[in-house]
Amino acid sequence: MPVISVLKECCKSCQLCVPVCKQGVLAVGAETNAKGYNAVVPQEGKKCVGCRACVTICPEAALELEV
Ligand code: SF4
Ligand code: SF4
Repeated sequence: MPVISVLKECCKSCQLCVPVCKQGVLAVGAETNAKGYNAVVPQEGKKCVGCRACVTICPEAALELEV
């Protein structure tokens, strides 16, 4: 099963990845990283299908997909 992970410290909370995930896996989290950005967090109960849309659009290379 594909799993997406967020490199929290690389995320700048631009939110480009949020709407491109049609599975609703990604949402902005409540916690800030060291740079003061609210990193996105994979949501419980939502299933990544490994489409790579979020990985492709992220300008910070903050998303890693494991398949
Ligand atoms: S790889 Fe596709 S399904 Fe998985 S989190 Fe990214 S956009 Fe969503
Ligand atoms: S596209 Fe990348 S930098 Fe922007 S919110 Fe998503 S993970 Fe963070």
